[in-house]
Amino acid sequence: RSRAKLMTGQSVKVTFDDIAGVDEAKEELTETVAFLKDPKKFTRLGGRVPKGVLLVGPPGTGKTLLAKAIAGEADVPFFSISGSDFVEMFVGVGASRVRDLFLQAKKHAPCIIFIDEIDAVGRHRGAGLGGGHDEREQTLNQLLVEMDGFETTEGVIVVAATNRPDVLDPALLRPGRFDRQVTVPVPDVRGREAILQVHAREIPLADDVDLSLIARGTPGFSGADLENLVNEAALMAARENKDQVTMADFEAAKDKVLMGAERKSLILS
Ligand code: ATP
Repeated sequence: RSRAKLMTGQSVKVTFDDIAGVDEAKEELTETVAFLKDPKKFTRLGGRVPKGVLLVGPPGTGKTLLAKAIAGEADVPFFSISGSDFVEMFVGVGASRVRDLFLQAKKHAPCIIFIDEIDAVGRHRGAGLGGGHDEREQTLNQLLVEMDGFETTEGVIVVAATNRPDVLDPALLRPGRFDRQVTVPVPDVRGREAILQVHAREIPLADDVDLSLIARGTPGFSGADLENLVNEAALMAARENKDQVTMADFEAAKDKVLMGAERKSLILS
């Protein structure tokens, strides 16, 4: 990721309507949107608006999409960075990047800062084998300094995502830092159907396509898997010069997606 992209607050068009099957998470995040739109309304009686929201859930469940949707719904810029970007950096570079990021964000407030894979920098300090993960610790320390160093009335909300909340340094979870946690689970059967509906919105479906049947046949699929499924089905139908995507295309696509997943887990194991 280039430095330029990191520093530019993007405006995003994603809204909560683009995300399905995670209704509870959306409901909790509606509050965050309201804070961004009018922080003073909430602090009028001396309350403190949360600075940080931690989205916790397995890969591909829509954490990044939710963070973008907060920005989209509130119509504020979106600054993003990934914890893994810091992993191979020279000592000091990560910390100064974090500082720059918050500086830029404050200039463009109200806005969202999104930190994907926060566990890559936010691991429990001193937990590394062989010790001496100076760079990561400096980056994490800078992040803590920055989170303590702004007032939420400034309108910056930091959203972070992880699938490993258990390894996070407890300092990150203290009040005034990431003190809100929102769970983003793998969708259940109704969630899967809703997600299929979102991704099939712009796709011409044949009459025989039954999204609820597809939802029942795809246990364990994440939102990202389902998006992939719809996409593969549309490509299969197009390859055969059809004008509509049929149930047979979905079945063939499912085999393909499942095979891809199997190959991935073979490589990983
Ligand atoms: P990771 O942990 O791998 O970064 P993530 O939880 O951030 O994953 P996203 O990047 O938000 O997942 O999801 C990837 C893509 O999968 C999205 O762009 C979207 O197309 C689709 N998707 C995932 N979850 C959902 C959902 N709940 N509703 C609709 N689409 C979804």
